[in-house]
Amino acid sequence: MRRAVVSGPAGLLVAGGSVIAGTGEARTGPTDVLVQGDEITAIGPDAALRADAAGPGIERIDATGLTVMPGLIDAHCHITFGEPASNDELFFHRDQSTAAMVAAFNVPKLLLAGVTGFLDADCLWNLGPALREAIEAGIVEGPRMAAGMNALLTAAGGTAGRLIPDSGRAGYAHVVGDRDEMVRTTRQQVKHGADWVKIHVTGSLPNHRGELTVWTLDELRAVADTAHELDTPTVAHCRNATSTRLAAEAGVDLILHASFLDDAALAAVVEAGCAVAPTFTFLANLADHGHKVGAASTQVDLFRGEIEATATKLAEAHRAGVPILAGSESGFALTPYGHWHARELEVLVEAIGLTPLEAIRCATANGALALRREPGTIGVVAPGAAADLLVVDGDPSVDVRVLGDRTNLRHVISRGRAVDLARPWPERRPLPGEKVGVWAAEPLTQEAARR
Ligand SMILES: [Zn+2]
Repeated sequence: MRRAVVSGPAGLLVAGGSVIAGTGEARTGPTDVLVQGDEITAIGPDAALRADAAGPGIERIDATGLTVMPGLIDAHCHITFGEPASNDELFFHRDQSTAAMVAAFNVPKLLLAGVTGFLDADCLWNLGPALREAIEAGIVEGPRMAAGMNALLTAAGGTAGRLIPDSGRAGYAHVVGDRDEMVRTTRQQVKHGADWVKIHVTGSLPNHRGELTVWTLDELRAVADTAHELDTPTVAHCRNATSTRLAAEAGVDLILHASFLDDAALAAVVEAGCAVAPTFTFLANLADHGHKVGAASTQVDLFRGEIEATATKLAEAHRAGVPILAGSESGFALTPYGHWHARELEVLVEAIGLTPLEAIRCATANGALALRREPGTIGVVAPGAAADLLVVDGDPSVDVRVLGDRTNLRHVISRGRAVDLARPWPERRPLPGEKVGVWAAEPLTQEAARR
């Protein structure tokens, strides 16, 4: 049975579980882990000794027969989007106050699904930093969060076609018209609390299959250099090979998607030392399950092809030492919060050929970058690391799908405290005007009426 455990003031001893460190090392035999405050302070025999010395104030979790591992870090999660079914809904049906309340409602679901850290690189209404601070202040329950603000787009737009205005802001987008505006907006975002600055390097344009590169190298450099001067990393949406190459050359720190990676783009990524979060989950969900929830079938082959075309080169990138991060793109109707955060591990194993331990590393230790923490200080089970842990029934080092089923989570420990997993899953009703109303799926012609 799962039960709520609150870490005592003296700490929490997770006793007798088999530990997956998150660094790629094999699962251990029975091992104790001691957490004190927001820190893992001891592992192995030392943990029990120190817990005994600390006296009765130590809470104990019996993890015998279970796996203890770092909490998941989702490097690509849109916490403010509110699971829209269309761009129309995303751009026009979410006012600022509502979006903030819906995000506060949704963010605990990440913890309940074993996610103890996430990066939201671009958000509606620039809500990200405020949500992060509300979580840190204990106003909203949620994992550790790194926040971007609006994604920077050129006037050519992104993945929402002409819903993107020619200038100004809409939805998650801030259209930056020229180099000066790119520099100015980057500085403003950092001033207002952005942990990351996101650039939407590709966009969909009429009469073009796939996405086109809509930024120049010089423009990308303007944003990356400005952000770096202010000690802030940059992250880029790149769904073709050219954009990935240009982003790497410009000094972007984390590339999302890296779709259709080719030799030149791979060489640029390796040379620049940037990280990649492929984010196949959204594509895989649509391809595998979209038809069950009425998703448009026209894109299924395109998305399946995108995974296949990208996976071989990503396997090469992995072998060349490019850090791969796991991101789920949770936040859309096809990727609702709390359901698919661990699916990326499955796809990394199946499509790219990573071992389960390598995939776990992508979703834990490698996630330190997403949270802007030093390697080894978070996303690992090691003395001195942050106290974010999962106690799992099953062995994810054999089968990562264990992590995709919430009922296997016996305990989630976030910042040294056990999350209450005994509560019911958060449910709600739709808000007035939240969903796009469809008058008809097709025109009611006389021919249709006669069917
Ligand atoms: Zn995204």
